[in-house]
Amino acid sequence: MQKECVLYEKKKLKKVRCLACAHKCVINEGKTGICGVRKNENGKLMLIVYGKVSSINVDPIEKKPLYHFLPGSYALSIGTVGCNFKCDFCQNFDISQSSKSGKIFGEEISPEEIVISAVKYNCKSIAYTYNEPAIFIEFVKDCAKLAKENGLKNILVTNGYFSRESFGYIKEYIDAVNIDLKSFKESFYNKYCGGNLKNVLEIIKKFYKSGIHVEITTLVIPGLNDSDTEFRNIAKFIASVDKKIPWHISRFFPKYRMLNKKITSKESLEKAYEIGIKQGLKNVHIGNV
Ligand code: SF4
Repeated sequence: MQKECVLYEKKKLKKVRCLACAHKCVINEGKTGICGVRKNENGKLMLIVYGKVSSINVDPIEKKPLYHFLPGSYALSIGTVGCNFKCDFCQNFDISQSSKSGKIFGEEISPEEIVISAVKYNCKSIAYTYNEPAIFIEFVKDCAKLAKENGLKNILVTNGYFSRESFGYIKEYIDAVNIDLKSFKESFYNKYCGGNLKNVLEIIKKFYKSGIHVEITTLVIPGLNDSDTEFRNIAKFIASVDKKIPWHISRFFPKYRMLNKKITSKESLEKAYEIGIKQGLKNVHIGNV
């Protein structure tokens, strides 16, 4: 199953420019963008993971993590393969990075079947998660529209690398988001993720200003983003948007290209917690422990 993308523009010589995320890849005929799932086929941009679900599960909403939105409920959680980031510490690298070496896999499921399953399993929401939803945004929208018509809420779990276009395209269908704020350093985003911090900060503010419920997650990696200054800067930023925005400080486990790192210590997570509270945050949560 694949479908022509909506968020792109045609260029000369059968090139296309994808508008789904802040990379805005210009893609030659026969090639894919950075995410590996949006492919230029004869001058048309195709979403090659449309309806190709790599993971589907009924999860407690707290696992997203969202602690302040429909607490105690279940979210039907779905993802495809691929990502617009390349994080060396990715905890889901087996699905997020596979498309970059051409491995596209998943079970074909239609938006209708997803919504039927959500209702059947007593879920109150559908979460687009496990890999980055901006890269399969047209599929998200088709599911989200149908979900809304059936009384379900829609949740994005994202790295925040949306473009202005994809944000505008999806915002009216989304009720809650959990956005990663991986670091407060541009150099970290450039080196380890292949993106930039500025865009992520802008998107956090945009979602918040649109009245969408926002929670933030930071995966704390020993030696990389666990200094007091880093925690303080992240907490300060969140507080500047709204002190009530929940901040999830999550424990890292060695994965992918960071097998040489240690598991985050409890002390480090507790230090982040204290700094968050000191900066005035009302809802700081330690996770993955
Ligand atoms: S979603 Fe982002 S990474 Fe993927 S092709 Fe579009 S602009 Fe490039």
